[in-house]
Amino acid sequence: MLLREVEYARPATVEEAISVLATYDGARPLAGGQTLVNVMKARAAAPDVLVDLADLVELRTIGFSSDGMLEIGAMVTCTQLMGSSEVEVARPILAEVASTIADVQVRNRGTIGGNVCVSDPTNHFPVLLVALGATFTIRGQDGERTVPAEEFFLGVYMTAVGEGELLTRIDVPASSGSGDGFAGVTIGAHGTYIVNAAATVAGDLARVAIGCVAASPVRATAMEERLGDYSEDSVRAAAAGLGATLDPPSDVHGSADYRRHLAEVSVVRAVLQAAERRKS
Ligand SMILES: Cc1cc2nc3c(=O)[nH]c(=O)nc-3n(C[C@H](O)[C@H](O)[C@H](O)COP(=O)(O)OP(=O)(O)OC[C@H]3O[C@@H](n4cnc5c(N)ncnc54)[C@H](O)[C@@H]3O)c2cc1C
Repeated sequence: MLLREVEYARPATVEEAISVLATYDGARPLAGGQTLVNVMKARAAAPDVLVDLADLVELRTIGFSSDGMLEIGAMVTCTQLMGSSEVEVARPILAEVASTIADVQVRNRGTIGGNVCVSDPTNHFPVLLVALGATFTIRGQDGERTVPAEEFFLGVYMTAVGEGELLTRIDVPASSGSGDGFAGVTIGAHGTYIVNAAATVAGDLARVAIGCVAASPVRATAMEERLGDYSEDSVRAAAAGLGATLDPPSDVHGSADYRRHLAEVSVVRAVLQAAERRKS
């Protein structure tokens, strides 16, 4: 289907992009276009102005802050994450998970910023970034603010990025000896998830998040508190009953009960993987 007529802007700076977004009510940022262009074709979205972020070089960088945080620009693609030496050193799970998303075309075009701004509950990065304790930098005409991952995802297709604002950067703490894990069940190889889970284990402490069971990723805090040692039996015991606390949707891919079961299976796998990979 042909796209509805739409105005197009290609700003050269972040300030210019924010100014265009703030000026036109119907303006939307265009990142890799992997979701936005498809929903426009399906007439499920009809922005008046597309603000193409392609020339914003500062959003395409991966680096470190002075305090050792891994700083990932919103326009960094999955393919860039997979080839980044900074990611490999600081948080290799990001590259590992990126490499399992869809296919090579989607990974070449799709950005981490677009992935989280869509806030699709079945996406790979929201649940992972919640488990890693990432923070999101959002810029608007009134300046810049930082939002923790748990407060960024507000619902299906809804995030803390407001009208006229831009997500510019995602900061992820460097692992410093912690281990990370990711698990779940997809619809076919490299498909979207029916349920997924991510975990990070540092010493005896864990952060665990579950995806696809609610509009936004869910922290498994009760399970985190029950985790003591990381033997398979202990992790299974800590996860027991977790499913009953969830209220996941039912659809053609799985009933709510099946998702509750998958949630318990996925958190166990993610935590065991994370514990095995930790260095201390
Ligand atoms: C066939 C197919 C299969 C896929 N399978 C998966 C999958 O299994 N798992 C998965 O995680 N992902 C999957 N994706 C999604 C893909 O990985 C991209 O993350 C996603 O399409 C959005 O990224 P994008 O850069 O293309 O963003 P766009 O489509 O350009 O933008 C998406 C939305 O985010 C907004 N936006 C983008 N960047 C910013 C920003 N910096 N600030 C504010 N708002 C912004 C846009 O306005 C738009 O509303 C799939 C996509 C396709 C086409």
